[in-house]
Formats: sequence, C-alpha cells, structure tokens
Amino acid sequence: MALIVQKYGGTSVGTLDRIRNVAARLKRTRDAGNQVVAVVSAMSGVTDGLIKMARDLTANPSERELDVLLATGEQQSIALVTMALQHMGVDAVSITGGQAGIFTTGSHTRGRILNMDPSLMRQFLEEGKMLVVAGFQGISPKGMIHTLGRGGSDLTAIAVAAALKADVCQILTDVDGVYTCDPRIVPNARKLPEISYDEMLEMASSGSKVMQSRSVEFAKKFGVVFEVRSSLNDNPGTLVLEEHPNMENVVIRGVSIERSQARVTITGIPDEPGMSGRILGALGEAEINLDMIISNIAHDGFARHSFTMPSSDLGKAQAALKPVIAALGSDAKVETEGGVAKLSAVGIGMRSHCGVAATMFKALGAAGINIGMISTSEIKIAVTVDETRIEDAARVVHNAFGLDKPPA
Ligand code: ADP
Ligand code: ASP
Ligand code: MG
Repeated sequence: MALIVQKYGGTSVGTLDRIRNVAARLKRTRDAGNQVVAVVSAMSGVTDGLIKMARDLTANPSERELDVLLATGEQQSIALVTMALQHMGVDAVSITGGQAGIFTTGSHTRGRILNMDPSLMRQFLEEGKMLVVAGFQGISPKGMIHTLGRGGSDLTAIAVAAALKADVCQILTDVDGVYTCDPRIVPNARKLPEISYDEMLEMASSGSKVMQSRSVEFAKKFGVVFEVRSSLNDNPGTLVLEEHPNMENVVIRGVSIERSQARVTITGIPDEPGMSGRILGALGEAEINLDMIISNIAHDGFARHSFTMPSSDLGKAQAALKPVIAALGSDAKVETEGGVAKLSAVGIGMRSHCGVAATMFKALGAAGINIGMISTSEIKIAVTVDETRIEDAARVVHNAFGLDKPPA
C-alpha cells in the first residue's frame, strides 16, 4: 500500500462543487488501495479577504494576531473537505498544523519549519483514517500559531511528505503542471515533463508562483520528489527532482516575471570601506528583502548603489535609509522609481552554453524594450524593464529561446 500526499490549492477548493470534486478525487485515490493524506489551502480569496479586514481595521495589524486570523482560512477548508469525504462514506479526520506536529520558528507570518512530530498523523493512519491537514500553519514550541508565508500550503505538503516518508507527493492546482512561462501570460508556453529543484527554486523565487519557493528549498534539502499537476483532470504533470545529466541539454527551462518592483538608487556614497555594510545593514534590519544589488565603480570619490525590492517595501526602505543617508554626508541622495518589473530566464543548461545573455538582450532590443538593470547567477539571467512592457518582454524572450517547441 502506497502513502500518497496530495495538496489542493485555493482555487481547487474555491467553491463547494470544487470541494466535492477534491473529496471525490481523494476517495478515488484511497479506493485504488492507497493511504491518503490531503493538505488543503484556504478557499481562494479567503486569505486575501482576511488580510484586507485586518488592514481596514488598522494600518499595522499585529503579526501575531494576523497569524491567528489567517490560520482560520485553512481551518474552514479542512473541515469542509472532511465533511464532504464523510458524506461519501470515507473515514476522514481533519487536523490543524499544530496537531500535525509542524513545529515552527522565526517571525510571525513568516514561520519556518523547525521540526516535525508526525506521531498523531501516524496514529490516525494506523486507524485506517484519511487525514486532511491544514496547510500554511504550524505551531511554535511555546504553542503560538505561525503561518508559513504566502503560498505556504505547498511547504506543508512537502514537509508532511518528508515526515511521513510518503511514496508520492502531488501538488494539485489549477494548471496542468509547471510551464515554460505562466500560461496566462504566454499562451504558447509548454508544460515541462520535469524540472530540477534548482531551476524550480529560481523560477519560484523570481515570480513563478506556481510553487512557493521555500517549499522547493525544503524539498531539495530532504530529497522529496514531487509532481505538480491539475486538480481538474488526470493529465500527467511536471516532476520536480534532483538534476540529471540530460537536463543540461536544454539551455533555458523557463521564463518568469515579477511585477510591482521598485528601484532605489543611492548616489554620492563616499568611496570608503564599510559604506555598503551600513546601507544594506539598515535595510536588512528593517527586514527588507533586496533582490538585484548593483554597485558601480566609484567616480570622483563617490560610489553609487542600486537595488530592487517589492514596491510594497518602498516606504519602509525610505524610512530605514533616512538616518543612514543623513550620516553619509550632504552628497548622498536617494532616488526611487516604481513601475518596474523583472524578467528572468532560468536553466541549468546555461552553465555549459555561451551567448545566452546576448540572445535575450538582442531579442528585447529588437522589440524596442529597454533594459534597466541586469543581474546574473549561474543558472539565471534577470533584467528589469518598464512594467508596462513586461508581458511583451516575456513573450519575446520565450520565443527567442524557442520555448514553445519541444527540445530537439
Ligand atoms: P494554488 O492555489 O493551487 O496554490 P497558485 O495560484 O498558487 O495555485 O499557482 C498556480 C498558478 O501559478 C497558475 O494558475 C498560473 O497562473 C501561475 N503560474 C505562474 N508561473 C507558472 C508556470 N511557470 N507554470 C504554471 N503556472 C504558473
Ligand atoms: N492560504 C494561503 C495563501 O493564500 C496559503 C496557500 O494558499 O498556500 O497564501
Ligand atoms: Mg499556491
């Protein structure tokens, strides 16, 4: 008998009919002779609705209380899915993240998994029950509720699969798998049969929200092979796994976009040791995640730094930078620019192929799309462009790498 973990996202449990569909799929999987553990998200829109209510009450809701509030979204859906299963005659039981033994650490709203105690889950499974686990939540060693960051039910599923040493882990969602680009943006994007952890991680952290990036990190660390597939059909999905030699034949696996970015440029920085540490240190203390960081060679004794961050962090960044900039002297200035988006091309094949950046830049140039900042890693090339051109840019780069056609 195989143990199968299936995670259903918000759209997949978004209505009562969808919940019935999920219950029927879970029953079918169990009737095929498997032990089944479901992990479910809040119904689509519920988490956003709860956040909105909190923010309508107060501009700065306490993060502890936000966790208490947001965790209720998943509690609604586990109870409803379990009721639908019971109605179909399945012996199922719902459990919260804490009851599933997901112990967390770190800040509220951004909890990290510290360890897992799957004993209650095992006990229920031994009793022959199907489990329906609340995604997105865990409990601190002191018993406080933590949520795991947006999209965090993916992390719950991977962690539960690792803790129970599941035979199969499936992430069931509203697309058939991981595509060469978000199919809502590039209609001729192709479903990938497989993708390496590192590529999935880079794509997820550069805007392909089909998987939460931290969940991919966790899967890589614990060697959890998982499949992303549709909750609405039985088409084969995309396997996410450790890379193997054949994977390097493909230069670019996929393209991601991330909107609503802002660029901050600091000019007039004295060209002295310790300046970057002071500036980036202040932003780090304010818990701002910088993305691209570019520093120019100093000119006339002054250096210049530019970085990108989500636009929503801009206010916080400006406040954190104010005292630092004042201390750098009267030449130091901060300029900010919103309306920026980022385009990334990702592929482990980049390590062994040349001219990849040139292909991307030429294609964007030919389409009249201006490149702002550029950054590269071993398996990613990222550029910023004007947000109004980001969808064109994605299509142009997708075509330039022939991603609409199966690899030769
Ligand atoms: P769930 O609610 O199931 O967690 P998400 O909305 O988090 O689903 O993720 C699925 C969505 O991710 C898809 O509807 C799709 O628009 C988007 N997406 C972004 N990039 C990709 C990609 N490369 N491949 C597939 N889907 C993608
Ligand atoms: N409900 C949470 C969110 O909307 C977690 C999830 O769906 O994975 O981010
Ligand atoms: Mg998701």
